[in-house]
Amino acid sequence: MKKIQLLMMSTLLTTASYGQGFENSTNVGEARVHLLSEGQQKGNTSILIGATPEMIETQAPDGTFPNAVNAFLIQLSGKNMLVDAGFGKRLFDNLQTLDVDAEHIDIVLITHAHGDHIGGMLRDGEKAFPNAQVYMSQKEHDYWTSDAVKNNTVRQLIAVYKDQLNLFNPSVIGEPATPLIDGVTAIAAYGHTPGHTMYEVESKGEKLWIWGDLTHAMAVQMPYPSVAVTYDVDPAQAVKTRLEVLNYVSKNAIPIAGMHIAYPSTGAVVKEGDGYVFNPVEIKKMK
Ligand SMILES: [Zn+2]
Repeated sequence: MKKIQLLMMSTLLTTASYGQGFENSTNVGEARVHLLSEGQQKGNTSILIGATPEMIETQAPDGTFPNAVNAFLIQLSGKNMLVDAGFGKRLFDNLQTLDVDAEHIDIVLITHAHGDHIGGMLRDGEKAFPNAQVYMSQKEHDYWTSDAVKNNTVRQLIAVYKDQLNLFNPSVIGEPATPLIDGVTAIAAYGHTPGHTMYEVESKGEKLWIWGDLTHAMAVQMPYPSVAVTYDVDPAQAVKTRLEVLNYVSKNAIPIAGMHIAYPSTGAVVKEGDGYVFNPVEIKKMK
């Protein structure tokens, strides 16, 4: 049963001729999930915490690793749901090629409030998605609006979307959960930021976890999940959460998608030795 889920996902993955050559659309039951890539890039090993010279020598010998900045669009039951909004660089062009206008985004699900995830929600300081209900975890909201942090972009975002903002407490991994909205469940993955949240898409028994910034350097953090990054607000908690999530998705054969996983940005996590390997899902060309 678990294997079938992965197989179904891989056979249904297709590419279409839109965007900048980084197309990846996946069926999850009746949901369609589209990669919205803001760009492919290389990360520098200088951001890694706890990587030994041997790890870098084998996993990132030139001092870099493949990286990307992504958002995703979930289409289910006639609703357009964004998961994060990237920087807002290519986001609107990517949405246009999918025939989705900004006015037709119904829901924005925020994993966390770093600029490469919420930048696209504001255009010239105004709402980029005037008709969207915005979801953010209570903890994330409280962190960014606390006196200790005082982040102006996040405060501006909260101010302009104040009538559309929905704060929630995500469910705990492995425990019974109530969906946040039809087909989507929020799951706590605290550590990278205090309220960092993953989103599970579920339809017709198929699942996909969009895990946000659970990883930044797949080449290093899959074999060595205890390596953290300087962007982690709480590196020790980020490591603990990563180990927990990798264990869960590999045991339960749940396909994943990530905001900083290089193209195709979706795939399967498999346990190997003391660490994990990531198998990007094969891309099938559409006629
Ligand atoms: Zn990020």
